[in-house]
Amino acid sequence: METVNKRNFSIIAHVDHGKTTLSDRLLQFTNTVADRVLEDQHLDSMDLERERGITIKSHPVTMFYPAKNGTTYQLNLMDTPGHVDFSYEVSRSLAACEGALLLIDAAQGVEAQTVANAHLAEEQGLTIIPVINKIDLPSANLDLCLQQLEDLLAIPAEEAILASGKSGIGIEEILEAVVERIPSPRWTDSDATRSLVFDSVYDAYRGAIVFLRNFSGSIKMRDQILMMSDHTRAEVKEVGVFTPAPQKVDSLGPGDVGYMVCNIKNPADIKVGDTITQNANPAAEMLPGYKEVRPMVFSGIYPVETQDFEKLKASMAKLQLNDAAFSFQAESSVALGFGFRCGFLGLLHMEIIQERIRREYGVDIISTYPSVVYKVQKQNGEEIEVDNPINLPDPSAIETILEPTIVAHIHVPNDCVGDILALVMEKRGSCERTDTLDGTRLILECILPLNEILVDFNDRLKSITRGYGSMEYELGDYRPAKLVKMDILVNGEPVDAFSSIVHTDKAHTKGGELCSKLADIIPPHLFKIAVQAAIGGKIVARDNVRTMRKDVTAKCYGGDISRKRKLLEKQKEGKRKMKNIGNVSIPPDAFIKVLKND
Ligand code: GDP
Repeated sequence: METVNKRNFSIIAHVDHGKTTLSDRLLQFTNTVADRVLEDQHLDSMDLERERGITIKSHPVTMFYPAKNGTTYQLNLMDTPGHVDFSYEVSRSLAACEGALLLIDAAQGVEAQTVANAHLAEEQGLTIIPVINKIDLPSANLDLCLQQLEDLLAIPAEEAILASGKSGIGIEEILEAVVERIPSPRWTDSDATRSLVFDSVYDAYRGAIVFLRNFSGSIKMRDQILMMSDHTRAEVKEVGVFTPAPQKVDSLGPGDVGYMVCNIKNPADIKVGDTITQNANPAAEMLPGYKEVRPMVFSGIYPVETQDFEKLKASMAKLQLNDAAFSFQAESSVALGFGFRCGFLGLLHMEIIQERIRREYGVDIISTYPSVVYKVQKQNGEEIEVDNPINLPDPSAIETILEPTIVAHIHVPNDCVGDILALVMEKRGSCERTDTLDGTRLILECILPLNEILVDFNDRLKSITRGYGSMEYELGDYRPAKLVKMDILVNGEPVDAFSSIVHTDKAHTKGGELCSKLADIIPPHLFKIAVQAAIGGKIVARDNVRTMRKDVTAKCYGGDISRKRKLLEKQKEGKRKMKNIGNVSIPPDAFIKVLKND
């Protein structure tokens, strides 16, 4: 199979540096899609992605480009997810390419994710074509960008192409560079098929559709294939390429990028990074870099209306079909009823899934505090993993609790460094290194507990730096920490939805905040109710619910007894709907209010 006239490449960039706009320009220039279709930005097919300016799913596209040298090239553009939560997926899409366009917004310069993505591309041995984008902007600072390219990424400034996806500057130059600079597809001269799975999507009629980059041998209809990670066998029903619409072809040869439909119905059986080979003549080794993706952040998701449980379950099952990294399992909570314990790659992944459940499936949900996966070393020598505070063993059985950390690279303007360092300290982190980025910004390398960045770290970083700060992170190691389980008691009874694993130094503050919120939200009762935060048997904070008698009949002056009775009946009805924690009645939405407020 001839591969000389093919190029596989991707575009990598910090969010908002113009990847989508530039991709569209390339499709338009090569007449891959008609101009009018472009309005709905092709590569980002999910609404939510578009709104947030991030790409979650990678959709490869095949274009044909008649180059100046007289040859027409087949260009396969792979889209990569643009956020740290998805860095493994990014690395797999990159592994399917030989080159990458590295976009830098001319007005913003190099950002945290520009550096992180450039490193991922280098690790895969890709040819990097630097593109300074948005040069039409009056605020563009070309000199600074070129300097940063050399200083921060060690890429010679003369390699940079100046472009604007918006006004169409430099598009042809980019396509020429793809053809000239990026090598034709690597493939090993072996007849054993090795094909990299870099993504999959679910189609209601055909089941799982696997995205492949073939490295050697070929894959065609009716082949009996073998997934090398777990030895699953399957029969190929169809192979094809994306133009961008899927188009059937006879076979995917060496260097080809395309899709495969086989008789695997469950997308969870298809693992990104896996190698596919022929069952009859299997390859000796998998392609390098396969890793099992494991959720890092867990949280309970419950329907606000109990009757939505089945609908929620169905929508989660559907979401999982297109996102094998998302996991869920039924659980129940005294306070919130029946729901699910869900696992996510990171916080952004969690937000996206929650938004999609609300928006695409119309289910109103409430989620509990996110938790990371702790490793607990017990006195008896056993080590267990805990992702839900309720499963933490009794303190007397625990030797050490270890928590996951991250290594973060934070880009901050010089004048905000003090405030950011204070934030890092507050979050129990430490700053290991500082580097100057240019005259105006610094890069801080910090180690932080993953748990501490879950809630508001990024928002606070953005607000302290007036939007100029940016961060990327990778997972670090597990470290021992002084962690304890904190329970919230209402009138002496624990409320499971509010249990959390906290650092001992923070228990008092966090406990106090929760108690006062809950005490405000629980309606007054006839008797005094204490809301307490407890660690083991020890109370670390408390607050009281107001005491009051609500006499609903007070408004009915005088005699109408039947009306009075009706009102009392109604009040009883209302009470029935309340959740009872011990002898305290709490309206279900009280829990929701407390969890939402945070
Ligand atoms: P992505 O997040 O990297 O995919 O970025 P988008 O392509 O969605 O662009 C982000 C924002 O920058 C949008 O508001 C675009 O209209 C704008 N933009 C993209 N390319 C250019 C450009 O070349 N010049 C200017 N002035 N704006 C651009």
